[in-house]
Amino acid sequence: MYDVIIVGAGPGGIYSAYELIKLDSSLKIAVFEAGHPLEKRRCPIDGDKVKSCIKCKSCAIMSGFGGAGAFSDGKYNITNDFGGTLYEHIGNKQAVDLMKYVDDINMAYGGEGTKMYSTAGSSFKTLCMINKLKLLDAQVRHLGTDINYVVLTNLYNDLKDKVDFFFDTRVDNIEYLGNDKDVLDDSTVYKITTSDGNTYEGRQCVISVGRSGSKWMETVCKDLDISTKSNRVDLGVRVELPACIFEHLTKELYESKIVYRTEKFEDNVRTFCMNPHGVVVNENTNGIVTVNGHSYEDPAKHTDNTNFALLVAKHFSEPFKNSNEYGESIARLSNMLGGGVIVQRFGDLVRGRRSNAKRIAEGLVVPTLAATPGDLSLVLPKRILDGIMEMIYALDKIAPGTANDDTLLYGVEVKFYNMEVDIDENLETKYKGLFIIGDGSGVTHSLSHASASGVYVARRIADKE
Ligand SMILES: Cc1cc2nc3c(=O)[nH]c(=O)nc-3n(C[C@H](O)[C@H](O)[C@H](O)COP(=O)(O)OP(=O)(O)OC[C@H]3O[C@@H](n4cnc5c(N)ncnc54)[C@H](O)[C@@H]3O)c2cc1C
Repeated sequence: MYDVIIVGAGPGGIYSAYELIKLDSSLKIAVFEAGHPLEKRRCPIDGDKVKSCIKCKSCAIMSGFGGAGAFSDGKYNITNDFGGTLYEHIGNKQAVDLMKYVDDINMAYGGEGTKMYSTAGSSFKTLCMINKLKLLDAQVRHLGTDINYVVLTNLYNDLKDKVDFFFDTRVDNIEYLGNDKDVLDDSTVYKITTSDGNTYEGRQCVISVGRSGSKWMETVCKDLDISTKSNRVDLGVRVELPACIFEHLTKELYESKIVYRTEKFEDNVRTFCMNPHGVVVNENTNGIVTVNGHSYEDPAKHTDNTNFALLVAKHFSEPFKNSNEYGESIARLSNMLGGGVIVQRFGDLVRGRRSNAKRIAEGLVVPTLAATPGDLSLVLPKRILDGIMEMIYALDKIAPGTANDDTLLYGVEVKFYNMEVDIDENLETKYKGLFIIGDGSGVTHSLSHASASGVYVARRIADKE
């Protein structure tokens, strides 16, 4: 019998375990993770023998110790302006304080010396405003893929003797065995069944399964009759251009979150996940290959390019309920046409023709991802594509060169939002002792918010123990 069972060893699960042990080292805690330990996580794409996603059983990019963030750029955005709606549950101040607390932990575990960027007092705010663009407020800690790995390694080494980790062990089923779900008492027990057929019991349970666990999360909510809603998906492309074009912005802010309201449809298009001198990568979500990006702190690993996503948020209203399936269908179209991710020069998109290997090779931008040259207008809905093109021209005014013919667009980038699970101000479901946190709850969409939600539930649990 464990005091606390944690499902998922992404940032949400890791920081829950960290804080629980810090607050009460006598607690018996188990962490179940479907993916591999950190050192065994290796994506087979090497750009040489394996050029594109081969759909591994456990995706090393999305699963394993460190979760989806393990090989990410390690950008911890300290803000309530984006990255999730944790503040709606726990309050603005507490959310930001927890994000700062997580930053302190990251610094203590190997991140010291990494840079913190801030939009406060930036002259770019005015420049953006003049050009109908809005720069969102944030502080950004950039760990970089390499230092992020060091922090995760140090956290694991610290936790491994205090917590029972079960890797390559997917949780298939959760049962509530108590007498009354409205109270936490001696009868409260959660029983889990894992992929190897074993069962374990815990008095309280924290589920933090992220985006890769979204389908499973749906079945858990169905089985336990926990309400959910799902109505948003963000669709777009990843833009890759010479780093010098955005250097004035990235040097000062590292990552700028800029929003543009399109003239044609009054949709919001925003920049997302900016990676100065970074690389574009494949991402596999439930077998569908989409695009993402990251960059390294180590200058030796820098490329000559910067990449970022341009995304349009699509909110659906009744009766359509499955926004993620809409996003998946569009991503599947690009996979069908391109065998994976498609890349197109902006100039080719504007001229209404597909890109080909020759034109890309002749261009100024050397792609960092081997994607299939193609035509994104055959994949993305017109409304979304028009919005993206409008925004590229708007960005060209604050970063001249963005709308150059050779700017590369990779598609599709999809930001799936997990369905929002019905949880209260403790991030607890209607079952006392059953908490759902991180991206799997639909409340967070980022490293900092997911990590903060982990610390938060740990404190709630430790209060009650
Ligand atoms: C390539 C990439 C780059 C990113 N870059 C950034 C960035 O720079 N900044 C930022 O803020 N965010 C970034 N993100 C998003 C960020 O990684 C996530 O928001 C964050 O990891 C969410 O944390 P989490 O703990 O909620 O879930 P996850 O990190 O997704 O972890 C969930 C874990 O649960 C495991 N799991 C799932 N189902 C089960 C099950 N049934 N049983 C057991 N285990 C299970 C999974 O294997 C996974 O390891 C990036 C994401 C990707 C993919």
